[in-house]
Amino acid sequence: MVYGALEVGGTKTVCALGTEDGTIKEQISIPTGNPDETISEILKFFKDKGIAALGVASFGPVDLDRESPTYGYITTTPKPGWGNYDLVGTIRKALNVPVGFDTDVNGSLLGEVTYGDSKDLSDVVYITVGTGIGGGVITNGNLIHGMLHPELGHMLMRVYPSDKYSGKCPYHKNCLEGLASGPAIEERWGKRGEELSGCSEVWELEAYYLGQAVVNLILTLSPKRIILGGGVMHQEQLFAMIRKEVKQQLNGYVRTALLEDMDNYIVPASLNDDQGIMGCIKLAVDALKENRS
Ligand code: ZN
Repeated sequence: MVYGALEVGGTKTVCALGTEDGTIKEQISIPTGNPDETISEILKFFKDKGIAALGVASFGPVDLDRESPTYGYITTTPKPGWGNYDLVGTIRKALNVPVGFDTDVNGSLLGEVTYGDSKDLSDVVYITVGTGIGGGVITNGNLIHGMLHPELGHMLMRVYPSDKYSGKCPYHKNCLEGLASGPAIEERWGKRGEELSGCSEVWELEAYYLGQAVVNLILTLSPKRIILGGGVMHQEQLFAMIRKEVKQQLNGYVRTALLEDMDNYIVPASLNDDQGIMGCIKLAVDALKENRS
């Protein structure tokens, strides 16, 4: 059986076909333009492929409440044309298959716990650090949605005393995303992160903020593992620095065997940047199962 997987990102959209074991059979990437153009490309790809169901993970905020009249909508995004857009409804009407839906970062988290190194872990947090910062949470084996979905990237931060950068977030200035996203790094230091690999002060400050976020997550959610993915985390030196910050900032307050083994507690994504699209396959598999019952 072939499943459709669709990852709609702020800049690019990935369409793929895959099987339940996570194998990707065919995949294309298109720029996310205005909704009309993008949806038409998406439908062109999936039409006549005989998919049994489609899993969609999207940038947000999105409405995940199945009782809501705007379930499946992208809601308040500033991205032109996509505000209050019925993503799931439009696609389901055209393809006429069951559609599973979640946030982009929940898609990545689902990929990691279904097919990756964190397979079958019951309590995991996934943070993506790139153009924006997002986070997903699985507790007792279930994705947390609550009233909307977590927005971990916008947690408020204690600013490092010598950091005079005001922050990039249009809503909060110096939240985690405002201080530590790719665009924040570029604006603070005047160069893109890729060009700053050798500058230790850049990554020490980045590790201070990401470490602080991890500490907040340990204290609030008590996860058994924290996965850090996204473009900024391709700076692999960050992992050791973040682990050190977490130890320092926790200051011995939480002591568990899992935290002692920090290399296996704070880990990189394990699916070669396919975690998102593989998570969409899982969303499709689950959508089909739910439809049958
Ligand atoms: Zn913010």
